[in-house]
Amino acid sequence: MEVIKISPRGYCYGVVDALNIARKAAKDASLPRPIHIIGQIIHNRHAIEELSSMGVVTVDGPDRLSILENIQEGTAIFTAHGVSPDVKRRAQERGLYCIDATCPDVTVTHDLVKDLVAKGYYVIYIGKKGHPEPEGVIGEVPGHISLVETEADVDALALSEEQLQKLAVSTQTTLSLWDTHRVIQHIKTKYPQTEVYVDICRATQTRQEAVADQARGADLTVVVGDPRSNNTNRLVQVSEEKAGVPAVRIEDLSQLDLSLLKGKHKIAVTAGASTPSQITRAVIRFLEEYQPDQIEEPSNV
Ligand code: SF4
Repeated sequence: MEVIKISPRGYCYGVVDALNIARKAAKDASLPRPIHIIGQIIHNRHAIEELSSMGVVTVDGPDRLSILENIQEGTAIFTAHGVSPDVKRRAQERGLYCIDATCPDVTVTHDLVKDLVAKGYYVIYIGKKGHPEPEGVIGEVPGHISLVETEADVDALALSEEQLQKLAVSTQTTLSLWDTHRVIQHIKTKYPQTEVYVDICRATQTRQEAVADQARGADLTVVVGDPRSNNTNRLVQVSEEKAGVPAVRIEDLSQLDLSLLKGKHKIAVTAGASTPSQITRAVIRFLEEYQPDQIEEPSNV
């Protein structure tokens, strides 16, 4: 079967750094035990299992403050998605040794919204409800920022005269480029005075542009990544909406439904920024060797 290996794909530098920080902590005997990660270090089950085998415990929950309430002692690692000042303060109050694995690109957004609010702006932040990254950014400037996901959310905003005087837009790092520009356009139409700061990170942009460009002509795009990974889910959307190619997301080779390959000859493969390379390589290898009429099941990885 012909396989288009979309490039770039997979791990970004922020994910690599966060994983290395957690691995280094696991090996550092001087750090207080146990070592906990507050939320998922990156949104990938395989990476979490690897850290667990090294003795690093992932504690997940609806928000990071409530996660901390269940941790009595030891070391707390903050994830690549970033945390609010309240979470950092609470961890210190509980006597935890803190290690921050926030991606530098997320830190840029934290600094931006603080700076904007210090200058008197009200911020409309485009992001995904329930995702840890908006939770951290919003926690920097509570009361001076509103989270919106869609045009309907923008229409539902009730902004005061004072807030309308100085408005700015900022964004989550892993959104769809095209969706975000649509929402920004809607905001600019309603509030032309708004200053716009698009904080979609370079890694997300290049991976989405690569799918929009390179998946064209494929019969199907296979996106390898975790269901909770926002940038992974956006790659599915980009393939369908921008390349015009149906797409399926799988966590690993064991989830590949062979019936989807029936009658197909050219498959594009990409991976979210939090997907370990060896998992994507296994999918590519399998597809390259797969004969469309073959009936054997893929082996697990
Ligand atoms: Fe950082 Fe972007 Fe990677 Fe997220 S996707 S960890 S913001 S580089």
